[in-house]
Amino acid sequence: MIIFGSANALPGLDAGWERIERGDSAMDAVETAVRIIEDNLEDHTVGSSGLANVLGEVELDASIMDGTTRATGAIGALHGYAHPISVARALMTALPHVMLVGAGADAFAHEIGAEKRDLATAASRELWEARFRALAVEHPEPGKAVAATNALLTYAHAAGTVNVIAVDARGHVASAVSTSGWPWKYPGRLGDTPVIGAGNYADGRHGAAACTGFGELSIRGVTAYSVVRNMHDGTDVLEACRLAILDLAPMADPAIDNLTMSIVACSRSGEVAAVSTIPGAEYAVREEGMDRAACRPRLHVPFHSGEMANGQG
Ligand code: ASP
Repeated sequence: MIIFGSANALPGLDAGWERIERGDSAMDAVETAVRIIEDNLEDHTVGSSGLANVLGEVELDASIMDGTTRATGAIGALHGYAHPISVARALMTALPHVMLVGAGADAFAHEIGAEKRDLATAASRELWEARFRALAVEHPEPGKAVAATNALLTYAHAAGTVNVIAVDARGHVASAVSTSGWPWKYPGRLGDTPVIGAGNYADGRHGAAACTGFGELSIRGVTAYSVVRNMHDGTDVLEACRLAILDLAPMADPAIDNLTMSIVACSRSGEVAAVSTIPGAEYAVREEGMDRAACRPRLHVPFHSGEMANGQG
């Protein structure tokens, strides 16, 4: 048994561990852990207090995948609900669909009685406003937001999101990812989080992987799937992650500061690897023999050899 994820998953991992320790499924464990991070008001990259799009609307993305069946649920650009990960999981059984976005996702969340919430907080509003002030950008109107989006977006902020992967007592693996996405994004923008294969993938025959970082890159590289595919092809989990980062390198423009990609993954036997293009990055883990979850260093894998410190997490 093990539960692990991005460093910001740390506050949720002990509750997830308790679920698998008492015999609940990996799906229950990853959902439990991610819900705690979605409620964490200190984290402005996930759930409540997540930073808004260019119009000031918080749009949440999430996905969950059961490695045993490869069943999955994904939700994109969800407005006004506290727990997108639970909405994504509910979709798995409510409909024969795997992804709902925007108005359809909102209507579905309403129909299943998901918890509504005003996601903005005083702190997240102020952080969001501060960038308009700093760059002297006017608040755009809907339908006239391209110029403001391009002025406000910063690659330094395309690094947040929570990843959690668990292997339960039966050896079943599940993965969950949740995010408020890229702050000041154009309304309706989806990153890799809800795109199965890009930001999240679990296949119990080989392992699981989840990503944080510049989602436009991991969508183009199908990064989470490529980690799992590399394991299928015979590499160990660490090499599978390293190759998946290097596969993105030709698309990672060295001229863009703060372009990042980070991956957590495990093999079918629960061997964990975590890599990042960010020097000094960590991941969080709880496993047998630990009395609480802790952070450990990731392997630094730069996009380009010779690349030094390229950003913050
Ligand atoms: N991957 C996320 C996205 O592209 C962002 C992040 O990890 O911060 O929406």
